[in-house]
Amino acid sequence: MAMDIKTGDITQEHVCAIVNAANSSCMGGGGVDGAIHRAGGPEILEACREIRRSLYPEGLPTGRAVATTAGKMPAKYVIHTVGPIWGRCGSEERCDRLLVDAYRNSLQEALRLGCDSVAFPAISTGIYGFPPERAAKVAYQTIRDFLKRHPEMEVVFVFHTEESRRIFEESIAGA
Ligand code: ADP
Repeated sequence: MAMDIKTGDITQEHVCAIVNAANSSCMGGGGVDGAIHRAGGPEILEACREIRRSLYPEGLPTGRAVATTAGKMPAKYVIHTVGPIWGRCGSEERCDRLLVDAYRNSLQEALRLGCDSVAFPAISTGIYGFPPERAAKVAYQTIRDFLKRHPEMEVVFVFHTEESRRIFEESIAGA
């Protein structure tokens, strides 16, 4: 199965699309979102403004995904998705489902764009507080199911620290 796991900076990935763990404003923020907007330059913010104006005046709903240019980064597109905020979903199971949606809709968007490679950060496990062990299982299962149907897609998981990568690998062992 074409799933690769790395430690590094997602903004430097040479893939067709990188996924951004955005917030519903889609206008930038902290964490990986801030890194992506800094590395890609103002073109991304401009494209996000246009999306807010035309498609999502109220903001991007949790679990949805939309694409913009990647500006100056090596990737061609950024797929912005909004992960759930842990503790604000009503129930833990609903948080799981919203995280599944974020991964699935991002993968679907990558397909729609004609991409054959996509890189993900660990959505919701930073500022949004999703327990990383639990998020790892959800992410892995969702990507694995998708790859069964679309074996031509190459998925790269990029962790920012060795520690977060280790947690992911331990959590999916035996899954
Ligand atoms: P969220 O708001 O969805 O929790 P964050 O950006 O706060 O998003 O964190 C998501 C994950 O992305 C965290 O595990 C964080 O360590 C990681 N991260 C932060 N910067 C980068 C980067 N440049 N490349 C890859 N992952 C990153």
